[in-house]
Amino acid sequence: MTEETKTNFIHDIIDADLASGKRTEIVTRFPPEPNGYLHIGHAKAICLDFGTAEKYNGTCHLRFDDTNPAAEDEEYVQAIQADIKWLGFDWGENLFWASNYFGTMHTYAVELIKKGKAYVCQLPQADFKNYRGIPTEPGKEPPGRENSIEENIALFEKMKNGGFDDGACVLRARIDMASPNLHLRDPALYRIKRAHHHNTGDQWCTYPMYDFAHSIEDSIEGVTHSMCTLEFEVHRPLYDWILQTLDVFQPQQIEFSRLNLTYTVMSKRKLLELVQENLVNGWDDPRMPTLCGMRRRGFTAAAIRKLCGIVGATKVESISEIELLESCVRDDLNETSPRAMAVLDPIKVIIENYPTDLVETFELPNLPKKEELGTRTVPFSRELWIERNDYIDVPPNNKFKGFFVGREVRLRGAYLATCTSVEKDADNNVGSITCTYDPESKGGSAPDGRKVKGTIHWVSANHCVDAEIRNYDRLFSAENPLADKDADFKTLINPDALQITAAKLEPDLAQAKPGNRFQFERVGYFCADLDHTSEKPIFNRTLTLRAPRKV
Ligand code: ATP
Ligand code: MG
Repeated sequence: MTEETKTNFIHDIIDADLASGKRTEIVTRFPPEPNGYLHIGHAKAICLDFGTAEKYNGTCHLRFDDTNPAAEDEEYVQAIQADIKWLGFDWGENLFWASNYFGTMHTYAVELIKKGKAYVCQLPQADFKNYRGIPTEPGKEPPGRENSIEENIALFEKMKNGGFDDGACVLRARIDMASPNLHLRDPALYRIKRAHHHNTGDQWCTYPMYDFAHSIEDSIEGVTHSMCTLEFEVHRPLYDWILQTLDVFQPQQIEFSRLNLTYTVMSKRKLLELVQENLVNGWDDPRMPTLCGMRRRGFTAAAIRKLCGIVGATKVESISEIELLESCVRDDLNETSPRAMAVLDPIKVIIENYPTDLVETFELPNLPKKEELGTRTVPFSRELWIERNDYIDVPPNNKFKGFFVGREVRLRGAYLATCTSVEKDADNNVGSITCTYDPESKGGSAPDGRKVKGTIHWVSANHCVDAEIRNYDRLFSAENPLADKDADFKTLINPDALQITAAKLEPDLAQAKPGNRFQFERVGYFCADLDHTSEKPIFNRTLTLRAPRKV
């Protein structure tokens, strides 16, 4: 069983429904509102909705919950579909739009009026709260509550036909102004809003409210189990009331806790603020917790699915540590990403006994554990770049892998070489180091079998390509940027979350395609950026090789 299909309390409910014969097939749905890009929180819902349908050989619908024209956009519609596919799920034929049901919803609203279960209320919006009251005391009956059915039908018709200004009145369910659940105190079902809708254009000036729309959408589509996040638990009695009162097919709403991660925020509205205020470079900025941002950074769909499987479905609110996601990503990349050599903080190495004009090529495995991934050729010559920290004057301990004068090391896959001298400037900064190599050690091992302690990576100075490296850190400096409700979360942005550096890469890396992932040996996981070209190589640092030690 994969992580995604691991059992949970939702599956227990479904098992019982199948066993009792209440249901014979399972239909779920993922209902994004196209008002932003998907984030990793949505991935949890997607894995549950699609994963559950998969587990029971059922179907999962993708339904755009496009009932709020003001915030919605075609750009988001496209991006959401691309992200779900990238995550590894497919809705097949089952693509639906809440807006395609506007006609049915309107008919149902009229039906509620005819049953005496809904009325048009012209109470000014400012007085709504006052009439609704507080949970421990009953609310007050709003004006219009006792109007006749005929009056209400006429008023609702007038609403629909544009006879009222935006916000002048709403259609309300007639339930119970004394209910301890405020959501049952005659909630609004329809509002007036003159806004162009991406699907229905200017056909409607009245739009259904979320609770009314959602229950009807689920019912029309024959959704059997409608999973949503915990904040909707208190809405469930309304969901049930609407469908029972209309006497239509009744799905079961099941709530689970949201996915939250440390050092980031998980709300489309807040992420939109970051984008609009240019605090990040768009929705797909690799610092963002959006699926497109994570993809651009080099995170894999498999790793994200794995995280969702590990956190599972529960009813306990919590914040997961971002390190957990990162370890899922490292585990996946370690198994799947080809190795390459890149030097991020270069110093020059001159091999004094290597012929000046000789160039050799070495064939190195793309992924040592997976022969089927083949090999690549890497040029070698007299002058190389190695990492600055692979040279030291005096080694701190015997774990040090690199050069010091007199030390022989293995240049990965090429030769053994011994450091003979170092050149420094007046400030004692290393300019270059000089070595001699052992021509008998081709491939990296000596014929006499002598051991060398360290293996370091390198690139040939005359053949390497220069690249821009984008290094990422946490988007926020605070573990929970929303902990202080009175503070502006944007002040907690980590100013150092993006650092641009330069690097020298083995030449083949220029030919990488945007999105290709690599492990730069001994350095970390990297991914060719969307803007990467062979003329201007750009790599995102996905993650360091190992998790930094916690202090
Ligand atoms: P946001 O709060 O980011 O604006 P939303 O809930 O308004 O998100 P929707 O487009 O309505 O966004 O969400 C689609 C589905 O994804 C819903 O079923 C919602 O419950 C679920 N979802 C949203 N955020 C999370 C999260 N952090 N963890 C799990 N599921 C989530
Ligand atoms: Mg929402």
